[in-house]
Amino acid sequence: MDNAKTALITGASRGIGAAIARALARDGFDLWLNYRSDHEAAAAVQRSVEEAGRRCKLLPFDVADGDAVKAALEPALEEEVPFALVNNAGFARDALLVWMSQQEWRDVLAVHLDGFYSVTKLVVAAMLRKRRGRIVNVVSTSGQSGIPGQVNYSAAKAGLIGATKALAAEVAKRNILVNAVSPGFIETDMTKNLPLDRILPMIPLGRLGTPEEAAGAVAFLCSDRATYITGQVIAVNGGTYM
Ligand code: NAP
Repeated sequence: MDNAKTALITGASRGIGAAIARALARDGFDLWLNYRSDHEAAAAVQRSVEEAGRRCKLLPFDVADGDAVKAALEPALEEEVPFALVNNAGFARDALLVWMSQQEWRDVLAVHLDGFYSVTKLVVAAMLRKRRGRIVNVVSTSGQSGIPGQVNYSAAKAGLIGATKALAAEVAKRNILVNAVSPGFIETDMTKNLPLDRILPMIPLGRLGTPEEAAGAVAFLCSDRATYITGQVIAVNGGTYM
């Protein structure tokens, strides 16, 4: 099925990942939908993808657990090689550095950086054989500007931006394009407890972004309109960081 396009999206049961799934389904992609634990939410996203006329395989695993990633992805990759990989799974564990536990530091680096490593290493090996592919890493304004209370998260996302550029240079000759989308404050579970009165003045557009607005940039980078873009960071942040 070389002409069918499949996309693997990590962390796609809710929020930005779920919006990416719906956007890519509308663009004609079949999906492999990863998430960690929320089976009900993932099944609801699966239903909306199938209503759009696309296939959707659920692949629950913890991206930070290298063995679990291998167990889920190796058999799937023997059947088919996705055209696109979106590394989106993630969470924050905010604390000022002086109060930050080693666990909070490690968990955040593990989900974003170990997760990127384990998933991408397997998928890119298969893409290299096909000589085509798109990889989009969902990073954050926090990794570009630094945000107090997020030393762990800023370090992880800045690391992912570096990895995006290095990998883009490694695989360009095989027609694999690697980019990052950097959302600012987006309305999801991750931001629902933030103090809006303090956040909104930081956003020139004066509002939070929607998951669909972040997903639009990812869908563009996975599309035929983005064939000469690699190693870039596209910000979707309402002007928060320019
Ligand atoms: P969210 O609503 O909290 O959703 C997080 C998703 O990631 C869920 O599907 C969750 O699955 C999954 N997930 C979490 N840990 C995982 C793991 N270890 N393995 C596999 N899946 C895992 O978050 P979001 O706001 O959409 O954020 C998505 C991405 O955008 C993250 O990388 C985040 O850092 C980035 N981002 C968000 C914002 C924002 O303002 N919201 C801004 C910049 C960047 P389960 O539900 O099954 O746990």
